Parts: sequence; C-alpha cells; structure tokens
Amino acid sequence: RTKYNGKNNYSFFTQEMQMQTKRNLLLTNALHNAIAHNELYVVYQPQISLTTHKLVGMEALLRWEHPVFGSVPPSEFIPIAESSGLILSIGDWVMKTAVQQLKNWQTKGLHDVSISVNLSAVQFNQANLQHNIIQLLDESALPANYLEIELTESAIMSNPETAINIINQLHSLGIKISIDDFGTGYSSLSYLKKFKAYKLKIDQSFVRDITIDPEDKAIVNAIINMANSLGLQTIAEGVETQEQLKYLEENGCDEVQGYYYSKPLVVDEFEEKYLKGKK
Ligand code: C2E
Ligand code: MG
Ligand code: MG
Ligand code: MG
Repeated sequence: RTKYNGKNNYSFFTQEMQMQTKRNLLLTNALHNAIAHNELYVVYQPQISLTTHKLVGMEALLRWEHPVFGSVPPSEFIPIAESSGLILSIGDWVMKTAVQQLKNWQTKGLHDVSISVNLSAVQFNQANLQHNIIQLLDESALPANYLEIELTESAIMSNPETAINIINQLHSLGIKISIDDFGTGYSSLSYLKKFKAYKLKIDQSFVRDITIDPEDKAIVNAIINMANSLGLQTIAEGVETQEQLKYLEENGCDEVQGYYYSKPLVVDEFEEKYLKGKK
C-alpha cells in the first residue's frame, strides 16, 4: 500500500512539474511578443522623505497583462525574462519608458523627484549598458542625477568584480546606485566600501514585524547606523502601517516606500495624486 501511495505521489509530482514546464514555455513564447503587443506597462510607487514627508522619488515597477494568462506577477515573469535573455530588450524598454515618463512629468511641474529602475544581473553584465544609458539620458534630456538604479545584493555578488567597475562608472556619470533587498543577500559587508553606492533599501522582510520583533529592530537599527557611518542613504521598503513609519522615523531612516503612503500607481493615478494643480 505504501508503495502504491509513493508511486501515486510521484506521478502527481511529475504531472505538476510537466504543467509548470508547459506554463513556463507558454509564458516564454508569450513574453517574446509582449512589447510588440503592448502588454507591458510600468507602474510608479512613491518614495517619501521622512524629513519633509514629501515625494522625493518613485520606483518603476513592470507589469504584464496578457489577454489569456491575465496579469502575470513579476515574481513569475522576471525570472523567465532573465533565463530566456528577454530581460535585455524588456529592461531597455522599462528604462526608456521610465526615463521619458519622468521627463514628461518634469515638464508638467514635478520637481526634485527621482526615478528608480530595477536592473537584473543579466543586464548588468551587458557590454553596452552604460552607452545605452548615456544615450537615453541624452535623447530624453534628463540630467543623470535624477536616475537611480536598483541592484540587488545577490545580483552584485553574482559577479562582484564587474559590479564594482560598472557601479563606479555609473556613479561617475552622476547616476545613483541603490542596493535593493538589502540584508537578504549573503555578501560580505566589506564590499560596501568598494562601491560608490548611494542608498540601501532595507528589505521589507525586516520591516514587516519591526514594531514587535526585537531581532528585526536590531537588524534595521544596525543597517541605519552602518549607512550613516558610511555616508549612505536609507529607504525602508514595504511600510504598511503608521506604527512602522513612526519607528523608522524615530530611528533615523531617511525615506519610506510602501502601501501606507501608496501602492504602485498607473500613470493616470500618479498624475491625479501628484500633478493636479501643478504647472
Ligand atoms: P523590488 O524591486 O524589491 O520591488 C518592491 C516590491 O514590493 C514590488 O513588488 C512592490 O509592489 C512591493 N511592495 C511595495 N510596497 C509594498 C508594501 O507595503 N507591502 C508589500 N507586501 N509589498 C509592497 P512587485 O511590483 O511585485 O515586484 C517584485 C519584484 O520584481 C521587484 O522587487 C523586482 O525585484 C522585480 N521587478 C519588478 N519590476 C522590474 C523591472 O522592471 N526589472 C527588473 N529587473 N525587475 C523588476
Ligand atoms: Mg526595487
Ligand atoms: Mg526590494
Ligand atoms: Mg524585493
């Protein structure tokens, strides 16, 4: 009987895997056409200063709405884009869309607000990355200091030598580098002094229980103190409640991003909230 169950579980398992493999294949094919079919769009999540309580930046987050698969979450399609190489063209498209959008909003009166764009390790190892970025900023007439690039700790550690070079070159162009999901990687902290990083993004997993979990408090305080000593900015991700906000404010975090202030917004929602009455 145990044998039978085992076998049954096994065939159920392989069936699941086959279905998953099939879905991945279908999604990969669909993703090839996603740009051409206008299925991709970018949403913008506000980043708020804890000193002024004003909007100081926004993160560009990619969305995919497929006619059959519906809305596919980034956690599912970004890995597919990375493994298929499609992240190169998609990543260029996101960067271009986000940079042009900020320029557009600047002409409508949005000042002193930066745009953050996520970059995968695959894009980071692209030979013409800097060239493409310089050209885009030039074409869009957006000064480099309005652009921030978010790299995860793990993306950096996948190839630290290349990362150090490219980060420092981007920095010399005036582009700011944020380290995303900070605290979740396995990197040695000593690399922080080799990079011209600008900002640490405290991962939302430490923020979630920050008001009740002493370990999360300790970790977040350590990150903020270290950032202060190294001259780096801090932003906390996933801030959902006033209590979390208060804790971060009292403990010297510079900025917050999260549902408490706003979920990521489509262009119209963003304009309604931040551009009304401007010009
Ligand atoms: P991330 O860069 O760490 O982005 C933050 C994620 O947290 C976003 O998820 C955002 O919607 C979510 N979030 C923001 N505030 C809150 C909150 O208060 N509570 C909770 N529970 N979540 C919050 P999203 O948009 O699903 O993106 C997931 C990940 O996908 C991103 O994590 C990023 O790693 C990746 N991603 C998204 N867009 C792009 C892109 O254009 N390029 C690349 N390479 N990766 C992207
Ligand atoms: Mg990010
Ligand atoms: Mg993050
Ligand atoms: Mg994340």
